Amino acid sequence: MYICPHDLMLLDKDGSMTGHAMKAFNQEPEQCWECYACVKICPQQAIEVRHYADVVPLGASVQPRRGSESIMWTIKFRNGNRKRFEFPIRTTPEGSAEPYANKPSAVFNEIDDHSVLFTKGTHSCDMSQFIQN
Ligand code: SF4
Repeated sequence: MYICPHDLMLLDKDGSMTGHAMKAFNQEPEQCWECYACVKICPQQAIEVRHYADVVPLGASVQPRRGSESIMWTIKFRNGNRKRFEFPIRTTPEGSAEPYANKPSAVFNEIDDHSVLFTKGTHSCDMSQFIQN
């Protein structure tokens, strides 16, 4: 599943990297944004990420459990105490959102027209940053 914005999670299919076949791991932890996208999507709650110190105290852990209508956050403190917080995550039925409804379609032949993309002048001679057909 491609969920990581940095493409950090890697599946070790044959166990040659971790010693455990079919085990996934974060290949560059120092690049992790701690965005929790992988943690929230994992159906087994198998991924744990350190959380920000201003939200979770030192030595504690946080684990989300995402449902179709709400998300439950479990904070486990270093003394063993647990607190759970549940929040709604949507106001419409799952699968009913239409993100492109009432949006204009893209006009790809206008993509190198600077007046469409920018409100200020650009270096019109450098087109290397734009998609070319
Ligand atoms: S928490 Fe880190 S590893 Fe997980 S999706 Fe975000 S950036 Fe990727």
